Amino acid sequence: MNFIVMITIFIYLNIMFGVNSGKMQPIIIVHGGAGDIPESRINGKLEGVKEAVRVGYKILSSGGSALDSVEAAVVSMENDEYFNAGYGSVLNVRGEVEMEASIMCGKNLDVGAVTLIRDFKHPISIAHKVLTDSPHSLLGGEGAKIFALDKGFETVPPESLISENAKHALESSKNEFGRTEIGIKGDVGTVGAVAIDSNGHIAVATSTGGMSGKAVGRIGDTPQIGSGTYADDQVGGVSTTGHGESILKCCVAHSIIKYMGGGKDASTATTLAIQEMTKRLNNTAGAITLSKSGDVGVYFSSNRMAWAYVKNNKIYYGIDHDQTLVTDLNEK
Ligand code: ASP
Repeated sequence: MNFIVMITIFIYLNIMFGVNSGKMQPIIIVHGGAGDIPESRINGKLEGVKEAVRVGYKILSSGGSALDSVEAAVVSMENDEYFNAGYGSVLNVRGEVEMEASIMCGKNLDVGAVTLIRDFKHPISIAHKVLTDSPHSLLGGEGAKIFALDKGFETVPPESLISENAKHALESSKNEFGRTEIGIKGDVGTVGAVAIDSNGHIAVATSTGGMSGKAVGRIGDTPQIGSGTYADDQVGGVSTTGHGESILKCCVAHSIIKYMGGGKDASTATTLAIQEMTKRLNNTAGAITLSKSGDVGVYFSSNRMAWAYVKNNKIYYGIDHDQTLVTDLNEK
């Protein structure tokens, strides 16, 4: 009798408050950018995405929040010259770094985003501060710098963020802006992370240097909520990468969320939204998705996209179409 009463109370709490004493199995998925990635960059990117999920998963498995996990995973890739974010960001037409980032909390739909960041190492950490410490959602340029300095972030010389690869990519991309396939030889990719923590909360973070040879002051999809990033505990989370002007016209991240809200699974929703954008605008993109129940979606219409996720102590990862490699979480 007592047992039946307990079960009834448990089911009631679950329905009313989403109380789940069994706790959610935490998951993190990351991407390292969609594009025409040359062979010479494949290994570096795969190592980078695997390292990012290890860093993010460590936080989740010790009870940390999805927000802290996605920030840490993105910071790891912002430090890595194999990715187009933080150090190693691609350059605008004047040869300068201008970075952007966004982060979203699926519990309460709080957001933080920054754009036109020139002299800070970790745009995603400033975006996270905008989320927690500002009444605003998106800060850009001088205003973002004033905010960051006020919150104790330290500037770095802008040249210290420029890699040899980014200089080379700018040379190659001159006269090619507007091409249909972003990411020509030597180019590198935007980064993103989506996580669910043990309390079932979802967070998403995305960070980029934009596109090689972009105009000064160009703002892409990454800092725009609903285009580059979206998280909603009631549905799931998405981070996108690819041709920014196309992604933002189709609000790709939110389109995937809408498809999932309408009953599609994470993989179908991701595939549909990216294929629609590609068909309509003839440009390529990719996305990573988690549904609120932990289903994974990975899809890209570009030649390649590096991705990795951790589930049940294994890392699943890949970069080419129809490729899924597996390794143990602790194996380096
Ligand atoms: N979406 C980014 C942008 O257009 C580029 C990328 O994902 O690589 O700024």
